[in-house]
Amino acid sequence: MKTARIAYQGDIHFAKSTKNGIELENGKAVGEEEVVWLPPIEPQTCFALGLNYFDHASELSFEAPEEPLVFLKGPNTFIGHRGFTRRPADVRNMHYECELAVVIGKQAEKVSKENALEYVSGYTIANDYAFRDYLENYYRPNLRVKNRDDSTPLGPWLVDVEDIADPMDLSLRTYVNGEIVQEGSTKDMIFDIPSLIEYLSGFMTLSPGDIILTGTPKGTIDTKVGDEVVTEIEGLGKLTNTIIA
Ligand code: MG
Repeated sequence: MKTARIAYQGDIHFAKSTKNGIELENGKAVGEEEVVWLPPIEPQTCFALGLNYFDHASELSFEAPEEPLVFLKGPNTFIGHRGFTRRPADVRNMHYECELAVVIGKQAEKVSKENALEYVSGYTIANDYAFRDYLENYYRPNLRVKNRDDSTPLGPWLVDVEDIADPMDLSLRTYVNGEIVQEGSTKDMIFDIPSLIEYLSGFMTLSPGDIILTGTPKGTIDTKVGDEVVTEIEGLGKLTNTIIA
């Protein structure tokens, strides 16, 4: 099942995807443009991976890391589908990052790779924008690069874990103003989802609503004010965002 959180007529609703569009919990059908899309879950602790695709690491002339390179994101940074993200006036390189977002469904402590997917409730799409001008050091990711308000679109849907046969074989694509600019496959991740859950839960407890953003493939280029950026993952849908001044 695909579920979303939306605001409609002054209230927040859970909604599901049907062949006729979006349906609220009371059965009412609403149009995609009639509602305000919120992130499909309320993010708790959010882990984000740096350099977790072989092709993206080599694009940036980096060796693949030997241990996951992880940083945290705060709740201020998330917005929903069809949202707006500001480009600061002094920035020369602001790029999208299409990422598979893994949502934890139950408390996980010292979980092995073999059982890791039992702790996942589902998947969604993240666009982990980076403001490269502010980057000082890959090994100390700067809050100004990765935690700006409204700069991590998430959604549109949370797709149940059972509905994705193999999360390690999904295509990812990004379009800017309708033109394809980034293309890859989750097959190319350096640390796969079970390894990341084993790694993180090995030294800290993961809880429902925690999210792991699993990194982005190559093809990240600068975007401008007015650009419409669509990040798409096979089986999960398309997440739209517009850049504003
Ligand atoms: Mg990223």
